[in-house]
Amino acid sequence: MDCIFCKIIAGQIPSHKVYEDDQVLAFLDINPVNHGHTLVIPKSHVGDIEEATGEQLSSLALAIKKVGRSIKEGLGVEGYNVTENNGSVAGQIIPHLHFHVIPRQAGDGLKLWPPRGNYQGTEAEDILQKIKIN
Ligand code: AMP
Ligand code: ZN
Repeated sequence: MDCIFCKIIAGQIPSHKVYEDDQVLAFLDINPVNHGHTLVIPKSHVGDIEEATGEQLSSLALAIKKVGRSIKEGLGVEGYNVTENNGSVAGQIIPHLHFHVIPRQAGDGLKLWPPRGNYQGTEAEDILQKIKIN
């Protein structure tokens, strides 16, 4: 498969490895939002979060926690964002599941998404009817 992240896992493309175990690889993003921006990926190719098994998601979550702690301690930052772009419409460019762990510091100038404003009238109930799971 012609997947750049699978090639990184296979060692065919170089990367700066932050963490590795049987299931997961974490490495520096080549074009960081902030220095230390790390990508956490499953070693078995899946396209996005919907394709991932529970076991993969568990191992990814544990690795994200380890990477986040290491970023805080190693870089002396106060926090970090964890994001995952699911689908090209959401900004996913590489079709191999990956979580971004982005170090954050006060005054770093990064802005998260602007809110659209509160729900009006029955909008929240209407949305809930469409997406409620149980
Ligand atoms: P996304 O838009 O969520 O698919 O993010 C893809 C990320 O992969 C971007 O932040 C890129 O900078 C990063 N990226 C692409 N190629 C490489 C590479 N060879 N090594 C490390 N990061 C990469
Ligand atoms: Zn892949």
